[in-house]
Amino acid sequence: MSDNKNSRQSEMSIHDIWKARKVISPLISATPFIQSFVLSERIGRPVYLKLEHVHDIGAFKVRGAANKILSLTEAEKKRGIATFSTGNHGMAVAYLAKRLGIDARVCISRHVPKAKVDSLKRLGAKIEIYGDSQDEAGEYCYELEREKGMTVIHPFDDPYVIAGQGTIGLEILESIPDVSDVVIPLSGGGLLSGVGLALKSFDSGIRVTGVSMENSAVMFESLQAGKPVKLEEKPTLADSLLGGIGLQNQYTFRMVQKYMDDILLISEGEIAGSMSFMIDIHRMIIEGAAATGVAAVLGEKLAYQDGAVVVVITGNNVDFSVLVQIIQSFEKNKGG
Ligand SMILES: *Cc1c(COP(=O)(O)O)cnc(C)c1O
Repeated sequence: MSDNKNSRQSEMSIHDIWKARKVISPLISATPFIQSFVLSERIGRPVYLKLEHVHDIGAFKVRGAANKILSLTEAEKKRGIATFSTGNHGMAVAYLAKRLGIDARVCISRHVPKAKVDSLKRLGAKIEIYGDSQDEAGEYCYELEREKGMTVIHPFDDPYVIAGQGTIGLEILESIPDVSDVVIPLSGGGLLSGVGLALKSFDSGIRVTGVSMENSAVMFESLQAGKPVKLEEKPTLADSLLGGIGLQNQYTFRMVQKYMDDILLISEGEIAGSMSFMIDIHRMIIEGAAATGVAAVLGEKLAYQDGAVVVVITGNNVDFSVLVQIIQSFEKNKGG
Protein backbone atom coordinates (compact mmCIF):
# COMPACT_ATOMS: atom_id res chain seq x y z
CA MET A 1 0.00 0.00 0.00
CA SER A 2 1.40 3.43 -0.83
CA ASP A 3 0.12 6.94 -0.32
CA ASN A 4 0.68 7.76 -3.98
CA LYS A 5 -2.50 9.48 -5.23
CA ASN A 6 -2.50 7.16 -8.23
CA SER A 7 -2.45 4.03 -6.12
CA ARG A 8 -5.71 2.16 -6.36
CA GLN A 9 -7.52 -0.30 -4.16
CA SER A 10 -6.09 -3.13 -6.26
CA GLU A 11 -2.93 -2.50 -4.28
CA MET A 12 -4.71 -3.04 -0.97
CA SER A 13 -4.46 -6.56 0.33
CA ILE A 14 -5.26 -8.73 3.31
CA HIS A 15 -1.76 -7.86 4.61
CA ASP A 16 -2.88 -4.27 5.16
CA ILE A 17 -5.65 -5.59 7.40
CA TRP A 18 -3.32 -7.88 9.38
CA LYS A 19 -0.97 -4.91 9.82
CA ALA A 20 -3.89 -2.77 10.97
CA ARG A 21 -4.80 -5.36 13.55
CA LYS A 22 -1.28 -5.28 14.99
CA VAL A 23 -1.19 -1.48 14.97
CA ILE A 24 -4.55 -0.89 16.66
CA SER A 25 -4.48 -3.79 19.14
CA PRO A 26 -3.00 -1.76 22.04
CA LEU A 27 -5.89 0.72 21.75
CA ILE A 28 -8.88 -1.26 20.44
CA SER A 29 -10.21 -4.51 21.91
CA ALA A 30 -11.81 -7.26 19.85
CA THR A 31 -15.61 -7.22 20.28
CA PRO A 32 -17.93 -10.12 21.19
CA PHE A 33 -20.50 -12.04 19.16
CA ILE A 34 -23.83 -13.34 20.42
CA GLN A 35 -26.11 -15.78 18.69
CA SER A 36 -29.64 -14.42 18.38
CA PHE A 37 -31.89 -17.43 18.88
CA VAL A 38 -35.01 -15.48 17.93
CA LEU A 39 -33.51 -14.36 14.61
CA SER A 40 -32.01 -17.83 14.03
CA GLU A 41 -35.42 -19.43 14.52
CA ARG A 42 -37.09 -16.92 12.27
CA ILE A 43 -34.95 -17.71 9.23
CA GLY A 44 -33.95 -21.27 10.14
CA ARG A 45 -30.22 -20.49 10.07
CA PRO A 46 -27.73 -19.56 12.81
CA VAL A 47 -27.68 -15.75 13.11
CA TYR A 48 -24.84 -14.06 15.01
CA LEU A 49 -24.63 -10.41 15.99
CA LYS A 50 -21.16 -8.81 15.94
CA LEU A 51 -21.37 -6.23 18.71
CA GLU A 52 -19.46 -3.21 17.45
CA HIS A 53 -21.52 -0.83 19.58
CA VAL A 54 -19.57 -1.86 22.71
CA HIS A 55 -16.51 0.25 21.79
CA ASP A 56 -15.92 3.29 24.03
CA ILE A 57 -17.60 5.77 21.65
CA GLY A 58 -20.35 3.30 20.72
CA ALA A 59 -19.32 2.55 17.13
CA PHE A 60 -16.77 0.65 15.02
CA LYS A 61 -15.31 3.89 13.60
CA VAL A 62 -12.52 3.82 16.23
CA ARG A 63 -10.87 0.96 14.31
CA GLY A 64 -10.24 2.82 11.06
CA ALA A 65 -9.49 6.15 12.74
CA ALA A 66 -6.96 4.49 15.08
CA ASN A 67 -5.17 2.77 12.19
CA LYS A 68 -4.94 6.04 10.26
CA ILE A 69 -3.82 8.18 13.20
CA LEU A 70 -1.21 5.65 14.33
CA SER A 71 0.21 5.58 10.77
CA LEU A 72 1.16 9.27 10.99
CA THR A 73 4.78 10.30 11.58
CA GLU A 74 5.70 11.96 14.89
CA ALA A 75 5.98 15.30 13.06
CA GLU A 76 2.50 14.87 11.57
CA LYS A 77 1.05 13.93 14.96
CA LYS A 78 2.61 17.09 16.43
CA ARG A 79 0.91 19.27 13.80
CA GLY A 80 -2.43 17.74 14.74
CA ILE A 81 -5.43 16.17 13.02
CA ALA A 82 -8.77 17.45 11.76
CA THR A 83 -12.13 16.10 10.69
CA PHE A 84 -15.42 17.50 9.41
CA SER A 85 -17.59 14.65 10.68
CA THR A 86 -19.96 15.38 13.57
CA GLY A 87 -21.11 11.79 13.77
CA ASN A 88 -19.42 8.61 14.95
CA HIS A 89 -16.25 9.28 12.94
CA GLY A 90 -15.85 12.75 14.48
CA MET A 91 -16.36 11.23 17.94
CA ALA A 92 -13.78 8.53 17.17
CA VAL A 93 -11.17 11.05 16.02
CA ALA A 94 -11.74 13.28 19.07
CA TYR A 95 -11.63 10.31 21.45
CA LEU A 96 -8.43 8.85 19.99
CA ALA A 97 -6.72 12.24 19.84
CA LYS A 98 -7.40 12.68 23.54
CA ARG A 99 -6.08 9.21 24.38
CA LEU A 100 -2.95 9.75 22.29
CA GLY A 101 -2.37 13.37 23.33
CA ILE A 102 -2.78 14.78 19.82
CA ASP A 103 -4.36 18.15 18.99
CA ALA A 104 -7.67 17.57 17.15
CA ARG A 105 -10.02 20.04 15.43
CA VAL A 106 -13.55 19.20 14.40
CA CYS A 107 -14.83 21.58 11.69
CA ILE A 108 -18.59 22.04 11.78
CA SER A 109 -21.14 24.39 10.24
CA ARG A 110 -23.04 26.84 12.42
CA HIS A 111 -26.16 24.65 12.13
CA VAL A 112 -24.84 21.61 13.98
CA PRO A 113 -27.09 20.99 17.05
CA LYS A 114 -25.72 21.96 20.45
CA ALA A 115 -26.02 18.42 21.84
CA LYS A 116 -23.55 17.15 19.22
CA VAL A 117 -21.17 20.05 19.78
CA ASP A 118 -21.27 19.40 23.54
CA SER A 119 -20.46 15.71 23.24
CA LEU A 120 -17.53 16.47 20.92
CA LYS A 121 -16.29 19.09 23.42
CA ARG A 122 -16.59 16.59 26.25
CA LEU A 123 -14.14 14.39 24.36
CA GLY A 124 -11.70 17.29 24.36
CA ALA A 125 -11.90 18.27 20.68
CA LYS A 126 -11.43 21.87 19.61
CA ILE A 127 -14.44 22.97 17.59
CA GLU A 128 -14.02 25.18 14.50
CA ILE A 129 -17.36 26.65 13.47
CA TYR A 130 -17.34 27.62 9.81
CA GLY A 131 -19.97 28.22 7.11
CA ASP A 132 -23.58 27.19 6.60
CA SER A 133 -23.18 23.61 5.43
CA GLN A 134 -21.16 20.50 6.11
CA ASP A 135 -19.49 21.02 2.70
CA GLU A 136 -18.25 24.48 3.70
CA ALA A 137 -17.01 23.12 7.03
CA GLY A 138 -15.19 20.39 5.08
CA GLU A 139 -13.49 22.97 2.86
CA TYR A 140 -12.31 24.79 5.97
CA CYS A 141 -10.89 21.53 7.27
CA TYR A 142 -8.74 21.17 4.15
CA GLU A 143 -7.66 24.79 4.58
CA LEU A 144 -6.31 23.81 8.03
CA GLU A 145 -4.44 21.00 6.31
CA ARG A 146 -2.88 23.36 3.75
CA GLU A 147 -2.10 26.18 6.17
CA LYS A 148 -1.30 24.48 9.47
CA GLY A 149 -0.12 21.12 8.19
CA MET A 150 -2.86 19.28 10.09
CA THR A 151 -3.88 15.89 8.68
CA VAL A 152 -7.54 15.47 7.72
CA ILE A 153 -8.76 12.03 8.79
CA HIS A 154 -11.24 10.97 6.12
CA PRO A 155 -14.24 8.99 7.39
CA PHE A 156 -14.08 6.22 4.77
CA ASP A 157 -12.12 6.85 1.55
CA ASP A 158 -8.64 6.11 2.87
CA PRO A 159 -6.69 2.83 2.72
CA TYR A 160 -5.70 2.96 6.40
CA VAL A 161 -9.29 3.62 7.47
CA ILE A 162 -10.55 0.79 5.24
CA ALA A 163 -7.90 -1.60 6.63
CA GLY A 164 -8.84 -0.66 10.21
CA GLN A 165 -12.52 -1.42 9.60
CA GLY A 166 -11.40 -4.65 7.89
CA THR A 167 -10.14 -6.02 11.23
CA ILE A 168 -13.81 -6.83 11.95
CA GLY A 169 -13.58 -9.29 9.05
CA LEU A 170 -10.64 -11.09 10.70
CA GLU A 171 -12.61 -11.43 13.94
CA ILE A 172 -15.59 -12.86 12.04
CA LEU A 173 -13.40 -15.49 10.32
CA GLU A 174 -11.83 -16.50 13.64
CA SER A 175 -15.03 -16.71 15.69
CA ILE A 176 -17.57 -17.93 13.12
CA PRO A 177 -15.46 -20.08 10.76
CA ASP A 178 -18.54 -21.52 9.00
CA VAL A 179 -19.95 -18.08 8.11
CA SER A 180 -21.87 -17.93 4.80
CA ASP A 181 -23.37 -14.42 4.82
CA VAL A 182 -22.24 -11.14 6.34
CA VAL A 183 -24.69 -8.25 6.53
CA ILE A 184 -23.09 -4.78 6.65
CA PRO A 185 -24.71 -1.34 7.01
CA LEU A 186 -23.44 0.78 4.10
CA SER A 187 -22.84 4.50 3.68
CA GLY A 188 -19.46 5.71 2.36
CA GLY A 189 -18.41 2.07 2.16
CA GLY A 190 -15.24 2.03 4.27
CA LEU A 191 -16.67 -0.69 6.48
CA LEU A 192 -17.92 -2.89 3.64
CA SER A 193 -14.69 -2.43 1.63
CA GLY A 194 -12.47 -3.52 4.53
CA VAL A 195 -14.63 -6.38 5.79
CA GLY A 196 -15.32 -7.53 2.21
CA LEU A 197 -11.59 -7.58 1.40
CA ALA A 198 -10.85 -9.62 4.55
CA LEU A 199 -13.63 -12.16 3.97
CA LYS A 200 -13.15 -12.64 0.23
CA SER A 201 -9.37 -12.96 0.55
CA PHE A 202 -10.02 -16.04 2.66
CA ASP A 203 -13.04 -17.46 0.79
CA SER A 204 -14.61 -15.75 -2.21
CA GLY A 205 -17.77 -17.80 -1.55
CA ILE A 206 -18.64 -15.83 1.60
CA ARG A 207 -21.50 -13.54 0.58
CA VAL A 208 -21.47 -9.87 1.49
CA THR A 209 -24.77 -7.98 1.66
CA GLY A 210 -24.82 -4.20 2.05
CA VAL A 211 -27.81 -2.51 3.67
CA SER A 212 -28.84 1.14 3.41
CA MET A 213 -32.00 3.11 4.19
CA GLU A 214 -34.49 3.84 1.40
CA ASN A 215 -34.13 7.60 2.06
CA SER A 216 -30.98 8.88 0.30
CA ALA A 217 -29.05 5.66 -0.43
CA VAL A 218 -26.10 7.36 -2.12
CA MET A 219 -23.91 4.28 -2.69
CA PHE A 220 -26.90 2.38 -4.12
CA GLU A 221 -27.68 5.18 -6.59
CA SER A 222 -24.01 5.56 -7.48
CA LEU A 223 -23.69 1.84 -8.27
CA GLN A 224 -26.80 2.09 -10.46
CA ALA A 225 -25.30 5.08 -12.28
CA GLY A 226 -21.87 3.44 -12.59
CA LYS A 227 -20.20 6.46 -10.98
CA PRO A 228 -20.43 8.46 -7.74
CA VAL A 229 -23.53 10.69 -7.65
CA LYS A 230 -24.84 13.31 -5.25
CA LEU A 231 -28.28 13.06 -3.62
CA GLU A 232 -30.39 15.37 -1.55
CA GLU A 233 -30.48 14.18 2.08
CA LYS A 234 -33.87 13.14 3.41
CA PRO A 235 -34.57 12.68 7.11
CA THR A 236 -33.93 9.14 8.34
CA LEU A 237 -33.53 7.20 11.57
CA ALA A 238 -30.31 5.85 10.04
CA ASP A 239 -28.64 9.28 10.24
CA SER A 240 -25.13 7.74 10.47
CA LEU A 241 -25.64 6.44 6.93
CA LEU A 242 -26.29 9.92 5.47
CA GLY A 243 -23.67 11.84 3.47
CA GLY A 244 -22.17 11.52 0.01
CA ILE A 245 -19.49 9.07 -1.14
CA GLY A 246 -17.46 11.90 -2.73
CA LEU A 247 -17.64 12.65 -6.45
CA GLN A 248 -13.85 12.06 -6.55
CA ASN A 249 -14.12 8.76 -4.68
CA GLN A 250 -10.77 6.95 -4.85
CA TYR A 251 -11.23 3.60 -3.14
CA THR A 252 -14.55 2.58 -1.66
CA PHE A 253 -16.78 2.90 -4.74
CA ARG A 254 -14.68 0.38 -6.66
CA MET A 255 -14.15 -1.88 -3.65
CA VAL A 256 -17.89 -2.01 -2.91
CA GLN A 257 -18.47 -2.82 -6.61
CA LYS A 258 -15.94 -5.63 -6.29
CA TYR A 259 -16.81 -7.16 -2.90
CA MET A 260 -20.56 -6.68 -2.44
CA ASP A 261 -22.84 -9.47 -3.69
CA ASP A 262 -26.19 -7.86 -2.92
CA ILE A 263 -27.64 -4.60 -1.59
CA LEU A 264 -30.91 -4.14 0.32
CA LEU A 265 -32.82 -0.95 1.04
CA ILE A 266 -34.69 -0.67 4.36
CA SER A 267 -37.74 1.51 5.13
CA GLU A 268 -38.03 3.85 8.11
CA GLY A 269 -40.74 1.64 9.63
CA GLU A 270 -38.49 -1.43 9.38
CA ILE A 271 -35.62 0.48 11.00
CA ALA A 272 -37.82 1.55 13.94
CA GLY A 273 -39.21 -2.00 14.24
CA SER A 274 -35.69 -3.45 14.37
CA MET A 275 -34.53 -0.96 17.02
CA SER A 276 -37.57 -2.02 19.11
CA PHE A 277 -36.82 -5.69 18.45
CA MET A 278 -33.27 -5.28 19.80
CA ILE A 279 -34.57 -3.61 22.98
CA ASP A 280 -37.44 -6.06 23.44
CA ILE A 281 -35.57 -9.31 22.73
CA HIS A 282 -31.89 -8.57 23.38
CA ARG A 283 -32.22 -5.61 25.77
CA MET A 284 -29.76 -3.67 23.60
CA ILE A 285 -29.99 -0.09 22.43
CA ILE A 286 -28.69 0.30 18.89
CA GLU A 287 -28.95 3.23 16.49
CA GLY A 288 -30.94 3.33 13.25
CA ALA A 289 -27.93 2.71 11.00
CA ALA A 290 -27.13 -0.51 12.85
CA ALA A 291 -30.79 -1.57 12.84
CA THR A 292 -30.81 -1.73 9.02
CA GLY A 293 -28.78 -4.96 9.27
CA VAL A 294 -31.17 -6.49 11.79
CA ALA A 295 -34.09 -5.48 9.54
CA ALA A 296 -32.57 -7.43 6.64
CA VAL A 297 -32.83 -10.64 8.71
CA LEU A 298 -36.05 -9.82 10.57
CA GLY A 299 -37.80 -9.06 7.26
CA GLU A 300 -36.39 -12.27 5.72
CA LYS A 301 -34.85 -10.22 2.92
CA LEU A 302 -31.54 -12.06 2.41
CA ALA A 303 -31.16 -13.31 -1.14
CA TYR A 304 -29.41 -16.51 -0.02
CA GLN A 305 -30.94 -19.29 2.07
CA ASP A 306 -28.29 -21.46 3.72
CA GLY A 307 -25.49 -21.29 6.29
CA ALA A 308 -24.56 -19.04 9.20
CA VAL A 309 -25.27 -15.30 9.06
CA VAL A 310 -23.31 -12.53 10.80
CA VAL A 311 -24.91 -9.09 11.18
CA VAL A 312 -22.53 -6.27 12.07
CA ILE A 313 -24.18 -4.14 14.79
CA THR A 314 -22.34 -0.94 13.91
CA GLY A 315 -23.30 1.58 16.62
CA ASN A 316 -25.53 2.81 19.41
CA ASN A 317 -25.49 6.60 19.18
CA VAL A 318 -29.15 7.50 19.13
CA ASP A 319 -30.70 10.61 20.70
CA PHE A 320 -32.58 9.87 23.89
CA SER A 321 -35.68 11.65 22.57
CA VAL A 322 -35.73 9.48 19.43
CA LEU A 323 -35.36 6.37 21.56
CA VAL A 324 -38.29 7.36 23.78
CA GLN A 325 -40.48 7.90 20.70
CA ILE A 326 -39.56 4.51 19.29
CA ILE A 327 -40.29 2.71 22.54
CA GLN A 328 -43.61 4.54 22.96
CA SER A 329 -44.86 3.70 19.48
CA PHE A 330 -43.72 0.08 19.98
CA GLU A 331 -45.73 -0.12 23.21
CA LYS A 332 -48.79 1.34 21.47
CA ASN A 333 -48.55 -1.12 18.56
CA LYS A 334 -48.28 -3.98 21.02
CA GLY A 335 -51.58 -2.77 22.49
CA GLY A 336 -49.91 -2.61 25.86
C1 LIG B 1 -20.21 5.10 9.57
C2 LIG B 1 -21.26 4.16 9.97
C3 LIG B 1 -21.76 3.18 9.09
C4 LIG B 1 -21.34 3.06 7.64
O1 LIG B 1 -19.95 2.96 7.45
P1 LIG B 1 -19.31 3.36 6.03
O2 LIG B 1 -17.88 2.98 6.15
O3 LIG B 1 -19.50 4.85 5.87
O4 LIG B 1 -20.05 2.62 4.98
C5 LIG B 1 -22.71 2.29 9.58
N1 LIG B 1 -23.17 2.36 10.83
C6 LIG B 1 -22.73 3.29 11.71
C7 LIG B 1 -23.29 3.32 13.07
C8 LIG B 1 -21.75 4.23 11.31
O5 LIG B 1 -21.32 5.16 12.18
